[in-house]
Amino acid sequence: MCGFIGIAGAPGTHVAPELYEGLIALQHRGQDAAGILSYDGMFHLRKQNGMVRDIFRTRDMQRLKGNLAIAHVRYPTVGMGTEEDAQPFYINFPFGVGMVHNGNLTNWMDLKSRAYPASNITLESSCDVEAILYAFASGLKDADPTLPREDRVRLAVQSAFETAKGAYSVAGILSEGALFGFRDPSGIKPCIVGKRETDAGTEWAIASESVALDVLGFQRVRDLRNGEAIVIEPGHEPVWIRVTEQDHRPCIFELVYFARPDSFLDEISVYKTRRRFGKALAKQWLDIGAPEPDVVIPIPDSARDAALSMAQALAKPYREGFIKNRYVGRTFIMPNQEERQQSIRRKLNPIPLEFEGKDVLLVDDSIVRGNTSRRIIETARAAGARKVYFAATSPPLVAPCPYGIDMATEKDFIARGREVEQVRNSIGADYLAYLDLDRMVDAAKVGNPKINGFCTGCFTGKYPTIDAEEHLVALAAERAQARD
Ligand code: AMP
Repeated sequence: MCGFIGIAGAPGTHVAPELYEGLIALQHRGQDAAGILSYDGMFHLRKQNGMVRDIFRTRDMQRLKGNLAIAHVRYPTVGMGTEEDAQPFYINFPFGVGMVHNGNLTNWMDLKSRAYPASNITLESSCDVEAILYAFASGLKDADPTLPREDRVRLAVQSAFETAKGAYSVAGILSEGALFGFRDPSGIKPCIVGKRETDAGTEWAIASESVALDVLGFQRVRDLRNGEAIVIEPGHEPVWIRVTEQDHRPCIFELVYFARPDSFLDEISVYKTRRRFGKALAKQWLDIGAPEPDVVIPIPDSARDAALSMAQALAKPYREGFIKNRYVGRTFIMPNQEERQQSIRRKLNPIPLEFEGKDVLLVDDSIVRGNTSRRIIETARAAGARKVYFAATSPPLVAPCPYGIDMATEKDFIARGREVEQVRNSIGADYLAYLDLDRMVDAAKVGNPKINGFCTGCFTGKYPTIDAEEHLVALAAERAQARD
């Protein structure tokens, strides 16, 4: 999972400093590497591994000139996460095209090892945007140059859709002086377009999450539809191009965990959805006759909104029982189980007053490996809790994500092949409930009834695109090799 933003500023402006601010707003989508590519008749690039604030200096901003620019934060899924894999990527021949993406190709290994070498194209990184970039550029090369730009871009995006399978949203720059974006045929990854009026003129932006638009003063115009592209030439109205039409299946895990609560994805407020998840979970808790807690405590940060509405619906007090140290970093990226367990404890410290002698209900967004929940339950008991109940605002995670959310391989999922009772026992809770799949999907749909389904592959093992299963087998092998 990654984040990107692109801006088509008014002629004569330099937008890179704003992209820097946009990347800071998207940092939660990837902390591995970041980059900005700008264009003022020439491409200018700065990218490196690390956090946004550590990569860019004033001198970079002075060099990254131009009113067209794209920027990226990276969260690695395939490859070793080396410097070469950082985005943006660009080429100058046969056309000047720059590109960033969020997503994952399920046929990338085939493209890299077979299809591209057969056309004498060498992919030089493990980053799958490179494969999309070449597919797009070759579609552009094959298009009749006398066609209007809109038709050439349609052919280029069609070529990308035919070649690159999986889930991806893209933003890019055409050296003929335009910003473009497109979203894969299932629309699994988010992509939103915004507009603002400035003294210099009307400006447009494309981003992974609306929060990046908000902080830069862009109004949300609308999300790109699945299989849709947009081309924006500064000083002109954008051209929206529907390239293919099929079922739209946005990722539900964005709403559960990944996106910021202040974002809107496909018109759905993440914040309100999490509140609905909490309310639905409270209803389920009462329907199944689960034990009555004295207090509801969220696992910060992603479960807060749901826990608060769950507490309200259960008519129980909501308390912040855990204080999070923001500077510990993600426990998920620790290479082994023991290190992950240690850093979870350092990351969350309890306020014993909220636990002593009480039956506590801990609420988290999801249980993946179960390390976080096990450790937190131990901590709650050590802080004096009498009973520790646990509720997850999503169903059991049982299947890896082929589209770029770094979950785990099959055997790492604590719930895979286990009954809820076995998971409860393993994490040491006195009671455990997961939000039902149907209740979760219904609660998400309320935000936009036009969406008639989501990608729920990580909960069901059923994926909306072809090739997904094959890709997962190859990915598991690659991960096992990396571990060795
Ligand atoms: P665990 O069950 O210990 O593997 O971790 C579950 C916790 O990690 C949940 O509370 C989520 O907030 C968080 N989480 C879930 N999925 C991811 C992910 N793909 N990357 C990072 N953190 C995640």
